[in-house]
Amino acid sequence: MNTVEKIKILGSGSKFDACSCTPAMRAEHGTKHIGDTLGCAITRSATPDGKPISLFKVLYSNVCSFDCTYCPNRTGCSKQKTTFEDTELAAAFMKLYIQNYVEGLFLSSGVMKDPDTTMEQMLRSVTLLRETYQYRGYIHLKIMPGTNRDLVKQAGELADRLSINVEAPSQDRLTDLSTIKNLKIDVIRRQRWMDSQHIRSGHSTQFVVGGAGESDWEILRMAHWEYKNVGLQKAYYSAFKPVESTPLAAKKHVPVTREVSLTRSDFLMRSYKYSLADIHGILDDDGMLPQGDPKFHIALNEFDRPVDLNDLSYEELLRIPGIGHISAMRILRLQKQHKIRSAKQLHTMGVVMKRARPFLKLNGHAQTALTRFAR
Ligand code: SF4
Repeated sequence: MNTVEKIKILGSGSKFDACSCTPAMRAEHGTKHIGDTLGCAITRSATPDGKPISLFKVLYSNVCSFDCTYCPNRTGCSKQKTTFEDTELAAAFMKLYIQNYVEGLFLSSGVMKDPDTTMEQMLRSVTLLRETYQYRGYIHLKIMPGTNRDLVKQAGELADRLSINVEAPSQDRLTDLSTIKNLKIDVIRRQRWMDSQHIRSGHSTQFVVGGAGESDWEILRMAHWEYKNVGLQKAYYSAFKPVESTPLAAKKHVPVTREVSLTRSDFLMRSYKYSLADIHGILDDDGMLPQGDPKFHIALNEFDRPVDLNDLSYEELLRIPGIGHISAMRILRLQKQHKIRSAKQLHTMGVVMKRARPFLKLNGHAQTALTRFAR
């Protein structure tokens, strides 16, 4: 099999791993057109500091000895299997990089013979990039569950960001998805090692949402624990989708709206310091988030009447839907000079009035009745 064919298979195999990515932006037209980008392996993403970046997102191998029930790379799965040579992957990446198709690398893999052998091969490719090709750009490297400490350390020295997938919020739930992975030993212990190493852009993880029948509450509680205890930089949420020829092929897909609600709630915890109790207050009896913006639902619990922005502190301003860090700073500045009196003033400061209006009082008047807004 030639390298282009491998890239197509292993690029497509990497789509189950999240890295703040949107689907490949450039359409796949075959290999005979100028500008073709092997679209299945090139993804628009963002670096940890928010800069947009095109990533060469690919698996080292789609051979896997593990048995995750949702995964097309699992052992015994009949799909076409292939593996890069270490030199082949490094050369292919550099070719795409020099031709300006990509600006960084996201490298994951199936667990071939065992985690250490797989990680060693991935690290050989990355070492070639850093030492032989003198590549200094962005690399996100996936750590195989169960990899030894020395290899995790080497990975942290070579990559800008590391990640290892938690997949499920507890050992019980993970056991439903894999008979091999041990959450505490294979995953969390590795996260603690990464945390102690202070990797340039930290480490991230991913949950398969709804794969094991868990609730949103279980997932968010686990993500919160990870932020507090193992230095997690960011969790990604990927709604379960059944894949042909896997044991979960007949299971119903999980709506993407669930993935979106989890991502928004996570963002509130990470960037706005919302507590688990805030999130818990809007869950239904099954521990599931409501449809729509969680900040709006929390605000409905919190504000029983419209408020005057002139009276609020920075932290209180951030609790109003439609007000973010930048607009809150601008409002504070204006508070000191003179009063906020009009919706137009707020709009020019970046407040999303459509979302904020039900919670506001301007010049002593409520802008709309809170009760008009159904949950
Ligand atoms: S470890 Fe599990 S999720 Fe990862 S490639 Fe193997 S079977 Fe798939």
